[in-house]
This record gives sequence, structure tokens and C-alpha cells, in this order.
Amino acid sequence: MALLKQMLKSIREKNPNEPEFHQAVKEVHESILPVLKSHKDYVEARLFERICEPERVISFRVCWTDDQGKVQVNRGYRVQMNSALGPYKGGLRFHPSVNQSILKFLAFEQVFKNALTGLPLGAGKGGADFDPKGKSDGEVMRFCQAWMMEAYRHIGQFTDVPAGDIGVGEREIGYLFGAYKKIRNEFQGVLTGKGQDWGGSVLRPEATGYGLVHFAHFMLTEVDATLENKTCLVSGAGNVSQIAIEKLLQEGAKVVGFSDSSGFIHDPEGMTEDKLRFLKKIKSGQRKSISVFADNYKSAEFTPKGKKTIWSIPADCAFPCATQNELDENDAKTLQQNGLTLLAEGANMPCTPKAIDYLQASKVLYGPGKASNAGGVAVSGLEMTQNRMGRYWSKQDLEKELRTIMKAIHEKCLETIATHGLADLDYLNAANIGAFEKVAKAMNAQGTI
Ligand code: NDP
Repeated sequence: MALLKQMLKSIREKNPNEPEFHQAVKEVHESILPVLKSHKDYVEARLFERICEPERVISFRVCWTDDQGKVQVNRGYRVQMNSALGPYKGGLRFHPSVNQSILKFLAFEQVFKNALTGLPLGAGKGGADFDPKGKSDGEVMRFCQAWMMEAYRHIGQFTDVPAGDIGVGEREIGYLFGAYKKIRNEFQGVLTGKGQDWGGSVLRPEATGYGLVHFAHFMLTEVDATLENKTCLVSGAGNVSQIAIEKLLQEGAKVVGFSDSSGFIHDPEGMTEDKLRFLKKIKSGQRKSISVFADNYKSAEFTPKGKKTIWSIPADCAFPCATQNELDENDAKTLQQNGLTLLAEGANMPCTPKAIDYLQASKVLYGPGKASNAGGVAVSGLEMTQNRMGRYWSKQDLEKELRTIMKAIHEKCLETIATHGLADLDYLNAANIGAFEKVAKAMNAQGTI
């Protein structure tokens, strides 16, 4: 036991000033302690410490020229975390908050998430402290080209295949792909989330949001409930949120709140397809604040960012889809006291550890992001397969495949709950243990490397 505690302490000491990374590691460590206790071989092979140590961290200078002709300098990253199951795979985040801690936590989470998909995917994450907000298309393009000027030598279809994340959507993937192609003179599936006419999977933009709602559906089935007529909150207003809202509407749910970095919207009348179209236009097209939504719809009220959060709105189901640590213990309490039945994470690590403890203790159904938002990377995995085959699959086939994968992840969680004697519907520990066992086994088989 002392050795196992020491393990966490030494990981913290080895990675100072990385609070998000420590948070992600501690959660998994707590889940897998019983597995380590019964697997002396895993402890001797130091598998947990190895999983916590990235195989490679690349950090580099990205210089570009803005529209005024001024030179700008940013820091780019790629964290190549684990390749036990396949090539490094995980998104790129362009946001001013990006640093090594955030990318290491995201890459660490990705190891477990990708393992749960059952696809041959290793794990990585990358990006830059670049803020695409307020930049012209030309500036974003020059930044992407400059990022790729360094990154191209570290990635490739069999080595490392990045995708999008916060601040990186189809526009950025296009510029990055074009730069890679120009430098290498090769048209290869080096990135996923590409445009649908040049190698992209038709379902990739929808995959995370659809997968999230499928997972919530399977969770609710366990308590004989459905999403129909459930009042829902979806934080964020980006790719994952918009699509989660779309799917929730298809399932007959009522979405009464969403948010962005400027505040949140409460619309008691609920979203409609028309309203969603408008939301997509102002966020993805015009890149404006959601306050514009309230200017357009009388039933909607905008609350600027402050003490009050979207989680103060009473709801049956909550889907945090914005960013890490966006929902704390107080939010969890308010939600639960207002009658919350289910919370499923679309974002990565959106709930603080205390919020998760509270939700688990109060028997709210809690779907951890590693399991519930794995649909995005799963369809990225399918995009990689399609690129290698040199063909496209139909939307119907991909939708079927995505649902099958999300169902399999859910079943894997239930199976792990049963085999490890976990508490009823303890998806958190099940996802961590199930994924750890898979990666640990593969690493053990591949020797000490
Ligand atoms: P986008 O950039 O498309 O959207 C992010 C949204 O979150 C924006 O609406 C943004 O607001 C909002 N946001 C960011 N920071 C805050 C904050 N501090 N408070 C409130 N709102 C905030 O990103 P994605 O939708 O792609 O990603 C969202 C989350 O989902 C991330 O955690 C990501 O890691 C995770 N994820 C994404 C996947 C994908 O396929 N894209 C796959 C799996 C997980 P604003 O517009 O004002 O900036």
C-alpha cells in the first residue's frame, strides 16, 4: 500500500506545476488501486508509472505574421502519450489557456478513452496557445501552416494522427492538412476530421455529440428510462454541444439551456431545429457570443458569465460539453437538489473531483467522458481505416457502426462492474479499470520499452 501511495507522490513530484495532469492521474489511480493490489506483476513492471510518462513530448516555436505584418510567436505542442494499441491519436487544441499540463491531462485521458473504443488506437494530444478568436482566415491559415512546418516530421498515418478539439474545426484541419501535403508531397490520412470531399468521414463532425447521446440512452435504459421529454442542459455551444443538442431533439428531449465563454442561455420553451440552425450560424459561421441568440428569441434569457452558471437551471439530464472543470461541487449539489437523474460528459474532465464524488454518492447516473465522449475518436478511427482503404463509407453504415461502438463501451463498463464487484452502475471506476487492463496487458506483452 505504501508503495502504491508513493507512486502517486513521485508522479506529482516528477511533473510539478501540472494540476490538471495530477487531477486526471489521481482519478485513475484511485480506480485501479484494487487491480494493482491483486496484480503484483503489473506493479513490478511499473505499468501505471509507465502509462503516466508520455512516450514523447514535443514542444516547439510557432512563428507567423499577422494581418498588420507583425511577427507573432506561439508555443506548439504534441504529446505522444502511448502507442501500445496503435498510432498516437487525439485532437489538437488551439486556445490561449493551452499548456503542457492541460495537454498531458488530455493525452492521458485519451489513452483510456481510445482503449475503450476497441479500435487500434494509441493516444496523443497537441495544439498551441494560439487564440483563433478574432483572427482573420488568413491569420489562422498562416498559423496552421507554421504549426505544421515543425509538426510534420513527428506525425504520419502510421505514427500519429491528430484531429480537432477546442478551437480546431474543419477550417483549421483543412489548413493543417494542406500544409502537410505540400511539405511531404503525399496525400495521406495524417489528420482526421477532414472535409468530406477530401478524405473526411461523413459522420466525424457529428460523432462525439451523437455518441454522447447514445451513451446516455444506454445508461438510462438500465433504469428503465428514456430521453423522451427529459429536460436537458448542454454547456458549450461548439461542435460537441451543437450536435448533442441536435441528437437530443431527435430523441424527443427538451433542451432548455446552453452556454459559451461569455455566459449562458435559459430558454424554458426549449430548443427547436430552427433555433439550433440559428445557433450554428452565430457560433460556427459568425463566431459571435450566444447573447445574440437572446436578441433573436423572446423566450430566451442570456446571463453573462459570473457567479450564476448554467447548472442553476433545473433539469433531468446535464451534458457538460465545454471544457475541463466547468462544473464544481456546488453546481453538482444544485443540479441534484433540482432533481437531476443523469450527467454524461461530452467535454474532457468537465467535473471537478468533488463534483464527481457528490454525484456518485447521491446516486445520480454519472457517465465519465472517457466512455461517454469516445464516439468522436471512434469515428476518427473509422476515418483512418477508410483512408487506408481509399474509400468512403455511407452515413448510414457509419451511424450504425458508431452506435454499435457506444453500445460495446457501455457493455464493457457493465461487464467490468460485474467482474470487479463494483457498485451498481459505477461507470467511473468501470471505465478506468476496463481501459487500464487493456492497455496494461498490451504494454506488458510488448516488453519493457
Ligand atoms: P469547440 O471549440 O467547438 O467548442 C467549445 C465550446 O466551449 C465553445 O462554445 C466555447 O465558447 C465553450 N467554452 C470554452 N471554454 C469555456 C468556458 N471556460 N466556459 C464556458 N464555455 C466555454 O470545441 P469542441 O466542441 O470540439 O470541444 C468541447 C469539449 O469536448 C472539449 O473539452 C473537448 O476536449 C471535448 N471533446 C471534443 C471532441 C471533438 O470531437 N471535438 C471529442 C471528445 C471530447 P466560445 O465559443 O465563447 O469560445
